[in-house]
Amino acid sequence: MSYVITIDGPAGAGKSSVAKRTALELGIKYLDTGAIYRAIALILAKSEIKPDNEEFLREALSEIKIELRGSSVLVNDFDVSGEIRTPEVDELASIYSAVPAVREALLSLQQDQEKYGSIVAEGRDVGSVVFPDAKIKFFLTASPEARAKRRYLERINKGKEADYDKILQAIKQRDENDSKREISPLSIPKGAIFLDTSEMNEDEAVNFILEKVKEALKH
Ligand code: C5P
Repeated sequence: MSYVITIDGPAGAGKSSVAKRTALELGIKYLDTGAIYRAIALILAKSEIKPDNEEFLREALSEIKIELRGSSVLVNDFDVSGEIRTPEVDELASIYSAVPAVREALLSLQQDQEKYGSIVAEGRDVGSVVFPDAKIKFFLTASPEARAKRRYLERINKGKEADYDKILQAIKQRDENDSKREISPLSIPKGAIFLDTSEMNEDEAVNFILEKVKEALKH
């Protein structure tokens, strides 16, 4: 029987690496819902469709085809996987994802992924809205400073420019946008296991999750 594991939490809490590794260890699929929001935000911004123009937005959304192919995201058959990983798209995704029409348009695409087998889904509302009946739910968080430090090191290690203070400020801004929006705000899903990774390394977080998942799968 297939099952869903959800991991929600703010930016930089370590969700992506932990979710990817958990999926790999369990031999199941990883669903990065943030990548879908990033892709749609990128294309809407490029098309100069403003987030407050709901009517226009709905029309555009009905014409955009988003597809997940392995770890790639395609918009109207065009691979945007690389283009969506920039600080500009961090901000755009946070803005457009607060629009109800955008969330509605992306809901079934996310839910459909369950048809292809078991998944580890990662996002902001996967345990509460997208997969409320998930087998096991987690909420991963860490202090804004710990998260900013991780993002900073991630960029430096990739040979990219980075400014810790700017990253910290952007993280706080995104937390505020994601938590205060009216639709699907970032919140701890009912029944989710809470994990603060501020003082944890990746291995510790993955092991914690795997242990809980294995326990849950016995029942
Ligand atoms: O997880 P990631 O940082 O890639 O997500 C980018 C943005 O997409 C988040 O800041 C959030 O605003 C939005 N998002 C969302 N719901 C999800 C996943 C992402 O609103 N399930």
